[in-house]
Amino acid sequence: MKVFILIVLILYSFIFSLPGSEAEMDRYIISMDIHDYKSYLASNIPLDELYFIENRVYFLVGKKDVAKIQRETIKSLVKIQPELFVSPLSGRKGGVNGLYHNYAETEAALFDLADRFPNLATVFSVGQSIEGREIYVIKISDNVELEEDEPNIFIVGCHHAREWISVEIPLLFTRHLLEHYSDTSEVQKIVDGAQLYIMPIQNPDGLEYSIHHYRYWRKNRRYNGNFSWGVDPNRNYGYMWGYSDMGSSPDPNSEVYRGPSPFSEPENVAVRDFLLAHPPAGTLSYHNFSQLILFPWGYIDELTPDDEEMRAIAQNMSELIYQVNGRTYRYGTGPEILYPSNGGTVDWVYGTFGTPAYTIELPNETFFLGGFFTTEEEIDLTFRENLPSMMYFATYFIEKHE
Ligand SMILES: [Zn+2]
Repeated sequence: MKVFILIVLILYSFIFSLPGSEAEMDRYIISMDIHDYKSYLASNIPLDELYFIENRVYFLVGKKDVAKIQRETIKSLVKIQPELFVSPLSGRKGGVNGLYHNYAETEAALFDLADRFPNLATVFSVGQSIEGREIYVIKISDNVELEEDEPNIFIVGCHHAREWISVEIPLLFTRHLLEHYSDTSEVQKIVDGAQLYIMPIQNPDGLEYSIHHYRYWRKNRRYNGNFSWGVDPNRNYGYMWGYSDMGSSPDPNSEVYRGPSPFSEPENVAVRDFLLAHPPAGTLSYHNFSQLILFPWGYIDELTPDDEEMRAIAQNMSELIYQVNGRTYRYGTGPEILYPSNGGTVDWVYGTFGTPAYTIELPNETFFLGGFFTTEEEIDLTFRENLPSMMYFATYFIEKHE
Protein backbone atom coordinates (compact mmCIF):
# COMPACT_ATOMS: atom_id res chain seq x y z
CA MET A 1 0.00 0.00 0.00
CA LYS A 2 2.77 2.43 0.92
CA VAL A 3 4.58 1.67 -2.34
CA PHE A 4 1.38 2.28 -4.26
CA ILE A 5 0.88 5.66 -2.59
CA LEU A 6 4.48 6.56 -3.39
CA ILE A 7 3.98 5.73 -7.06
CA VAL A 8 0.82 7.80 -7.15
CA LEU A 9 2.64 10.69 -5.53
CA ILE A 10 5.42 10.52 -8.11
CA LEU A 11 2.93 10.40 -10.98
CA TYR A 12 1.08 13.39 -9.58
CA SER A 13 4.29 15.32 -9.17
CA PHE A 14 5.00 14.83 -12.89
CA ILE A 15 1.52 15.83 -13.92
CA PHE A 16 1.40 18.96 -11.79
CA SER A 17 5.00 20.12 -11.95
CA LEU A 18 4.53 22.21 -15.08
CA PRO A 19 6.08 25.61 -14.32
CA GLY A 20 3.68 28.54 -14.38
CA SER A 21 0.62 26.33 -14.24
CA GLU A 22 -2.01 27.63 -11.90
CA ALA A 23 -0.16 26.36 -8.89
CA GLU A 24 -1.65 27.74 -5.72
CA MET A 25 1.52 29.62 -5.07
CA ASP A 26 1.05 30.79 -1.53
CA ARG A 27 -0.71 27.75 -0.28
CA TYR A 28 0.47 24.66 1.53
CA ILE A 29 -0.98 21.61 3.01
CA ILE A 30 0.47 21.15 6.44
CA SER A 31 0.09 18.26 8.75
CA MET A 32 0.73 17.87 12.43
CA ASP A 33 0.85 15.00 14.83
CA ILE A 34 -2.47 14.33 16.56
CA HIS A 35 -0.80 15.05 19.91
CA ASP A 36 -0.19 18.62 18.81
CA TYR A 37 -3.76 19.11 17.70
CA LYS A 38 -4.85 20.25 21.16
CA SER A 39 -2.29 23.01 21.31
CA TYR A 40 -3.37 24.03 17.83
CA LEU A 41 -6.98 24.27 19.02
CA ALA A 42 -5.89 26.34 22.01
CA SER A 43 -4.07 28.72 19.67
CA ASN A 44 -7.39 29.89 18.16
CA ILE A 45 -5.92 30.13 14.66
CA PRO A 46 -8.77 29.15 12.34
CA LEU A 47 -7.23 26.95 9.67
CA ASP A 48 -8.94 25.04 6.92
CA GLU A 49 -8.99 21.48 8.23
CA LEU A 50 -8.97 18.85 5.51
CA TYR A 51 -8.89 15.53 7.28
CA PHE A 52 -7.19 13.14 9.64
CA ILE A 53 -5.33 10.02 8.69
CA GLU A 54 -2.66 7.81 10.24
CA ASN A 55 -2.41 9.95 13.38
CA ARG A 56 -1.85 13.16 11.51
CA VAL A 57 -4.17 16.11 10.92
CA TYR A 58 -4.02 17.89 7.55
CA PHE A 59 -4.78 21.56 6.90
CA LEU A 60 -4.84 23.81 3.88
CA VAL A 61 -3.04 27.04 4.78
CA GLY A 62 -1.51 30.22 3.40
CA LYS A 63 2.13 31.14 3.94
CA LYS A 64 1.36 33.59 6.74
CA ASP A 65 -0.57 30.96 8.65
CA VAL A 66 2.40 28.63 8.55
CA ALA A 67 4.58 31.24 10.26
CA LYS A 68 1.86 32.01 12.78
CA ILE A 69 1.29 28.44 13.73
CA GLN A 70 5.00 27.69 13.96
CA ARG A 71 5.25 30.43 16.56
CA GLU A 72 2.64 28.54 18.55
CA THR A 73 5.36 25.92 19.14
CA ILE A 74 3.74 23.11 17.27
CA LYS A 75 6.79 20.93 16.78
CA SER A 76 5.47 18.31 14.42
CA LEU A 77 4.50 20.60 11.57
CA VAL A 78 5.25 19.26 8.09
CA LYS A 79 4.73 21.22 4.89
CA ILE A 80 3.64 19.47 1.72
CA GLN A 81 3.21 21.00 -1.70
CA PRO A 82 -0.51 20.59 -2.42
CA GLU A 83 0.28 19.12 -5.84
CA LEU A 84 2.09 16.25 -4.17
CA PHE A 85 -0.70 15.32 -1.86
CA VAL A 86 -3.25 12.76 -2.94
CA SER A 87 -6.27 12.04 -0.86
CA PRO A 88 -6.29 8.46 0.31
CA LEU A 89 -10.06 8.78 0.14
CA SER A 90 -10.25 9.58 -3.55
CA GLY A 91 -11.26 6.11 -4.77
CA ARG A 92 -13.47 6.41 -7.83
CA LYS A 93 -15.66 4.06 -9.79
CA GLY A 94 -15.96 5.87 -13.10
CA GLY A 95 -15.19 9.22 -14.69
CA VAL A 96 -12.94 11.87 -13.27
CA ASN A 97 -15.22 12.51 -10.33
CA GLY A 98 -16.85 9.11 -10.30
CA LEU A 99 -20.53 8.95 -9.45
CA TYR A 100 -20.52 12.62 -8.50
CA HIS A 101 -21.92 15.01 -11.10
CA ASN A 102 -19.70 17.53 -12.81
CA TYR A 103 -21.11 20.63 -14.50
CA ALA A 104 -21.90 19.00 -17.86
CA GLU A 105 -23.46 15.93 -16.26
CA THR A 106 -25.64 18.10 -14.03
CA GLU A 107 -26.72 20.21 -16.99
CA ALA A 108 -27.60 17.07 -18.98
CA ALA A 109 -29.50 15.57 -16.03
CA LEU A 110 -31.58 18.72 -15.55
CA PHE A 111 -32.53 19.00 -19.21
CA ASP A 112 -33.28 15.28 -19.36
CA LEU A 113 -35.69 15.59 -16.43
CA ALA A 114 -37.38 18.64 -17.94
CA ASP A 115 -37.78 16.71 -21.21
CA ARG A 116 -39.31 13.71 -19.46
CA PHE A 117 -41.66 15.76 -17.28
CA PRO A 118 -42.57 18.80 -19.37
CA ASN A 119 -45.75 19.50 -17.40
CA LEU A 120 -43.93 19.61 -14.08
CA ALA A 121 -40.44 20.95 -14.74
CA THR A 122 -38.63 23.62 -16.68
CA VAL A 123 -34.95 24.53 -16.74
CA PHE A 124 -33.55 28.01 -17.26
CA SER A 125 -30.35 29.92 -16.68
CA VAL A 126 -30.35 32.78 -14.18
CA GLY A 127 -26.91 34.11 -15.03
CA GLN A 128 -23.39 33.18 -16.01
CA SER A 129 -20.29 32.44 -14.00
CA ILE A 130 -17.03 34.32 -14.46
CA GLU A 131 -15.86 31.68 -16.96
CA GLY A 132 -19.18 31.84 -18.82
CA ARG A 133 -20.96 28.76 -17.51
CA GLU A 134 -24.73 28.95 -17.09
CA ILE A 135 -26.13 28.95 -13.59
CA TYR A 136 -29.21 26.76 -13.87
CA VAL A 137 -32.41 26.63 -11.93
CA ILE A 138 -35.00 23.93 -12.44
CA LYS A 139 -38.52 24.91 -11.46
CA ILE A 140 -40.84 22.14 -10.31
CA SER A 141 -44.56 22.71 -9.91
CA ASP A 142 -47.91 21.82 -11.36
CA ASN A 143 -48.77 24.35 -14.07
CA VAL A 144 -45.04 24.89 -14.26
CA GLU A 145 -45.26 27.60 -16.90
CA LEU A 146 -47.45 29.79 -14.65
CA GLU A 147 -46.57 31.96 -11.68
CA GLU A 148 -49.06 30.80 -9.10
CA ASP A 149 -50.00 31.91 -5.61
CA GLU A 150 -47.88 29.19 -4.01
CA PRO A 151 -44.89 29.43 -1.68
CA ASN A 152 -41.51 29.50 -3.40
CA ILE A 153 -39.00 27.01 -2.00
CA PHE A 154 -35.39 27.69 -2.96
CA ILE A 155 -32.85 24.89 -2.71
CA VAL A 156 -29.22 25.49 -3.67
CA GLY A 157 -26.02 23.43 -3.69
CA CYS A 158 -22.34 23.88 -4.35
CA HIS A 159 -21.42 27.34 -3.26
CA HIS A 160 -18.13 25.71 -2.31
CA ALA A 161 -16.32 23.89 -5.06
CA ARG A 162 -14.93 20.90 -3.19
CA GLU A 163 -18.24 20.09 -1.48
CA TRP A 164 -19.29 17.66 -4.18
CA ILE A 165 -22.06 15.97 -2.21
CA SER A 166 -23.86 19.31 -2.02
CA VAL A 167 -24.58 19.04 -5.77
CA GLU A 168 -26.07 15.58 -5.39
CA ILE A 169 -28.69 16.22 -2.72
CA PRO A 170 -30.58 19.00 -4.60
CA LEU A 171 -30.28 17.03 -7.85
CA LEU A 172 -31.55 13.77 -6.32
CA PHE A 173 -34.41 15.64 -4.66
CA THR A 174 -35.37 17.07 -8.06
CA ARG A 175 -35.35 13.60 -9.55
CA HIS A 176 -37.35 12.17 -6.65
CA LEU A 177 -40.11 14.77 -6.90
CA LEU A 178 -40.53 14.26 -10.64
CA GLU A 179 -40.29 10.49 -10.70
CA HIS A 180 -42.67 10.01 -7.77
CA TYR A 181 -45.26 12.66 -8.56
CA SER A 182 -47.62 10.07 -10.01
CA ASP A 183 -47.26 7.40 -7.33
CA THR A 184 -46.65 9.20 -4.00
CA SER A 185 -49.30 11.46 -2.50
CA GLU A 186 -46.80 13.36 -0.30
CA VAL A 187 -44.77 14.24 -3.38
CA GLN A 188 -47.88 15.26 -5.27
CA LYS A 189 -48.92 17.53 -2.43
CA ILE A 190 -45.55 19.33 -2.56
CA VAL A 191 -45.40 19.70 -6.34
CA ASP A 192 -49.01 20.87 -6.51
CA GLY A 193 -48.79 23.18 -3.52
CA ALA A 194 -45.42 24.88 -3.95
CA GLN A 195 -43.10 26.27 -6.58
CA LEU A 196 -39.72 24.67 -6.04
CA TYR A 197 -36.69 26.38 -7.49
CA ILE A 198 -33.62 24.18 -7.36
CA MET A 199 -30.09 25.33 -8.23
CA PRO A 200 -27.74 22.35 -7.81
CA ILE A 201 -24.58 24.33 -8.66
CA GLN A 202 -24.10 27.94 -7.62
CA ASN A 203 -20.35 27.88 -8.33
CA PRO A 204 -19.79 25.91 -11.56
CA ASP A 205 -16.29 27.25 -12.29
CA GLY A 206 -15.06 26.28 -8.86
CA LEU A 207 -16.61 22.82 -9.12
CA GLU A 208 -14.87 22.12 -12.43
CA TYR A 209 -11.59 23.41 -11.05
CA SER A 210 -11.94 21.14 -8.05
CA ILE A 211 -12.60 18.16 -10.31
CA HIS A 212 -9.90 18.70 -12.91
CA HIS A 213 -7.11 20.66 -11.22
CA TYR A 214 -7.18 20.95 -7.51
CA ARG A 215 -9.46 18.83 -5.33
CA TYR A 216 -9.29 21.20 -2.36
CA TRP A 217 -10.51 24.28 -4.24
CA ARG A 218 -13.25 26.14 -2.35
CA LYS A 219 -13.89 29.55 -3.92
CA ASN A 220 -15.04 30.72 -7.35
CA ARG A 221 -12.48 31.44 -10.10
CA ARG A 222 -12.20 35.23 -9.94
CA TYR A 223 -8.67 36.40 -10.70
CA ASN A 224 -7.80 38.84 -7.93
CA GLY A 225 -4.41 39.87 -9.35
CA ASN A 226 -0.99 39.04 -7.89
CA PHE A 227 -1.37 35.30 -8.51
CA SER A 228 -4.39 35.19 -6.28
CA TRP A 229 -7.61 33.50 -7.34
CA GLY A 230 -11.11 33.21 -6.02
CA VAL A 231 -13.76 34.86 -3.90
CA ASP A 232 -15.66 32.82 -1.33
CA PRO A 233 -19.22 32.76 -2.73
CA ASN A 234 -20.65 32.22 0.73
CA ARG A 235 -19.07 35.44 2.02
CA ASN A 236 -20.04 37.73 -0.87
CA TYR A 237 -23.76 38.29 -0.19
CA GLY A 238 -24.76 41.82 0.70
CA TYR A 239 -26.27 41.60 4.15
CA MET A 240 -23.79 42.78 6.82
CA TRP A 241 -21.07 42.00 4.28
CA GLY A 242 -17.65 42.47 5.84
CA TYR A 243 -19.20 43.12 9.26
CA SER A 244 -16.03 41.83 10.88
CA ASP A 245 -13.00 39.74 10.01
CA MET A 246 -14.42 36.84 11.98
CA GLY A 247 -15.08 34.09 9.46
CA SER A 248 -14.55 36.28 6.40
CA SER A 249 -11.43 38.04 5.22
CA PRO A 250 -10.41 41.09 3.18
CA ASP A 251 -7.24 39.19 2.09
CA PRO A 252 -7.59 37.84 -1.48
CA ASN A 253 -5.37 34.89 -0.58
CA SER A 254 -7.69 33.78 2.19
CA GLU A 255 -9.96 30.78 1.70
CA VAL A 256 -12.78 32.99 3.05
CA TYR A 257 -12.02 36.10 0.96
CA ARG A 258 -15.28 38.06 0.76
CA GLY A 259 -14.44 39.95 -2.46
CA PRO A 260 -13.88 43.70 -2.95
CA SER A 261 -17.54 44.61 -2.41
CA PRO A 262 -20.90 42.96 -1.70
CA PHE A 263 -22.22 41.13 -4.76
CA SER A 264 -18.99 41.68 -6.65
CA GLU A 265 -19.35 38.14 -8.07
CA PRO A 266 -21.71 37.30 -10.96
CA GLU A 267 -22.68 33.97 -9.36
CA ASN A 268 -23.95 35.85 -6.31
CA VAL A 269 -25.68 38.48 -8.44
CA ALA A 270 -27.47 35.63 -10.23
CA VAL A 271 -28.86 34.29 -6.95
CA ARG A 272 -29.75 37.77 -5.69
CA ASP A 273 -31.63 38.83 -8.83
CA PHE A 274 -33.42 35.52 -9.14
CA LEU A 275 -34.63 35.56 -5.54
CA LEU A 276 -35.66 39.22 -5.67
CA ALA A 277 -37.92 38.23 -8.57
CA HIS A 278 -39.09 35.02 -6.80
CA PRO A 279 -39.05 35.74 -3.06
CA PRO A 280 -38.53 32.50 -1.15
CA ALA A 281 -40.82 31.31 1.63
CA GLY A 282 -38.11 28.87 2.68
CA THR A 283 -34.50 28.31 1.66
CA LEU A 284 -32.09 25.40 2.01
CA SER A 285 -28.42 25.84 1.10
CA TYR A 286 -26.41 22.61 1.05
CA HIS A 287 -22.75 22.36 2.02
CA ASN A 288 -20.47 19.89 3.67
CA PHE A 289 -19.00 18.93 6.09
CA SER A 290 -19.93 18.67 9.83
CA GLN A 291 -23.57 17.47 9.92
CA LEU A 292 -25.11 20.74 11.04
CA ILE A 293 -28.30 22.71 10.44
CA LEU A 294 -27.48 26.40 10.72
CA PHE A 295 -29.83 29.37 10.67
CA PRO A 296 -29.44 33.15 11.11
CA TRP A 297 -27.83 35.12 12.40
CA GLY A 298 -24.47 34.02 11.19
CA TYR A 299 -22.68 37.35 11.39
CA ILE A 300 -23.32 38.06 15.07
CA ASP A 301 -24.04 36.07 18.20
CA GLU A 302 -27.63 37.27 18.51
CA LEU A 303 -30.95 35.58 17.90
CA THR A 304 -33.41 36.76 15.26
CA PRO A 305 -36.99 37.80 16.07
CA ASP A 306 -38.04 34.55 14.36
CA ASP A 307 -35.70 32.34 16.32
CA GLU A 308 -38.47 30.24 17.82
CA GLU A 309 -39.88 29.24 14.43
CA MET A 310 -36.52 28.71 12.76
CA ARG A 311 -35.19 26.66 15.66
CA ALA A 312 -38.31 24.47 15.72
CA ILE A 313 -37.99 23.73 12.00
CA ALA A 314 -34.32 22.89 12.48
CA GLN A 315 -35.11 20.59 15.37
CA ASN A 316 -37.73 18.75 13.34
CA MET A 317 -35.36 18.37 10.41
CA SER A 318 -32.63 17.09 12.67
CA GLU A 319 -34.98 14.49 14.19
CA LEU A 320 -36.19 13.34 10.77
CA ILE A 321 -32.60 12.94 9.63
CA TYR A 322 -31.64 11.02 12.76
CA GLN A 323 -34.51 8.58 12.30
CA VAL A 324 -33.11 7.35 8.97
CA ASN A 325 -29.55 6.29 9.76
CA GLY A 326 -29.09 7.33 13.37
CA ARG A 327 -26.70 10.09 12.45
CA THR A 328 -26.84 13.35 14.34
CA TYR A 329 -27.05 16.75 12.63
CA ARG A 330 -26.69 19.38 15.35
CA TYR A 331 -28.62 22.63 14.91
CA GLY A 332 -28.27 26.25 15.96
CA THR A 333 -26.94 29.55 14.71
CA GLY A 334 -23.42 29.71 13.31
CA PRO A 335 -21.97 31.51 16.34
CA GLU A 336 -23.69 29.04 18.67
CA ILE A 337 -22.37 25.82 17.21
CA LEU A 338 -19.72 26.62 14.59
CA TYR A 339 -18.28 30.10 14.22
CA PRO A 340 -19.55 33.53 13.18
CA SER A 341 -19.20 34.55 9.54
CA ASN A 342 -20.64 37.34 7.43
CA GLY A 343 -21.73 37.67 3.82
CA GLY A 344 -23.37 34.24 3.89
CA THR A 345 -26.44 33.08 1.99
CA VAL A 346 -28.83 32.57 4.87
CA ASP A 347 -28.16 35.94 6.51
CA TRP A 348 -28.85 37.70 3.22
CA VAL A 349 -32.02 35.70 2.55
CA TYR A 350 -33.40 36.20 6.04
CA GLY A 351 -32.19 39.80 6.20
CA THR A 352 -33.86 40.58 2.86
CA PHE A 353 -37.05 38.52 2.90
CA GLY A 354 -37.51 37.74 6.60
CA THR A 355 -38.14 34.08 5.78
CA PRO A 356 -36.50 30.96 7.23
CA ALA A 357 -33.21 29.98 5.62
CA TYR A 358 -30.82 27.17 6.48
CA THR A 359 -27.33 26.03 5.73
CA ILE A 360 -27.26 22.25 5.87
CA GLU A 361 -23.77 20.90 6.42
CA LEU A 362 -23.86 17.34 5.13
CA PRO A 363 -21.47 14.51 6.12
CA ASN A 364 -18.81 13.68 6.93
CA GLU A 365 -19.37 14.42 10.59
CA THR A 366 -15.77 15.34 11.34
CA PHE A 367 -12.62 15.69 9.40
CA PHE A 368 -11.39 12.65 11.30
CA LEU A 369 -14.01 10.76 9.30
CA GLY A 370 -12.97 12.21 5.95
CA GLY A 371 -14.00 15.88 6.12
CA PHE A 372 -15.01 17.18 2.71
CA PHE A 373 -14.21 13.93 0.97
CA THR A 374 -17.31 11.81 1.00
CA THR A 375 -17.22 8.42 -0.70
CA GLU A 376 -19.43 7.45 -3.61
CA GLU A 377 -21.44 5.20 -1.29
CA GLU A 378 -22.25 8.30 0.74
CA ILE A 379 -24.31 9.85 -2.10
CA ASP A 380 -27.33 7.58 -1.82
CA LEU A 381 -26.99 7.17 1.93
CA THR A 382 -26.97 10.92 2.49
CA PHE A 383 -29.87 11.52 0.13
CA ARG A 384 -32.05 8.87 1.82
CA GLU A 385 -31.09 10.42 5.14
CA ASN A 386 -32.08 13.95 4.08
CA LEU A 387 -35.16 13.20 2.00
CA PRO A 388 -37.74 13.17 4.83
CA SER A 389 -36.41 16.48 6.15
CA MET A 390 -36.67 18.04 2.68
CA MET A 391 -40.23 16.75 2.27
CA TYR A 392 -41.12 18.13 5.69
CA PHE A 393 -39.54 21.48 4.87
CA ALA A 394 -41.53 21.99 1.66
CA THR A 395 -44.75 20.76 3.28
CA TYR A 396 -44.28 23.12 6.22
CA PHE A 397 -44.42 26.17 3.97
CA ILE A 398 -47.39 24.87 2.01
CA GLU A 399 -49.36 24.39 5.21
CA LYS A 400 -48.25 27.78 6.51
CA HIS A 401 -49.49 29.34 3.27
CA GLU A 402 -52.93 27.70 3.37
ZN1 LIG B 1 -19.36 25.09 2.20
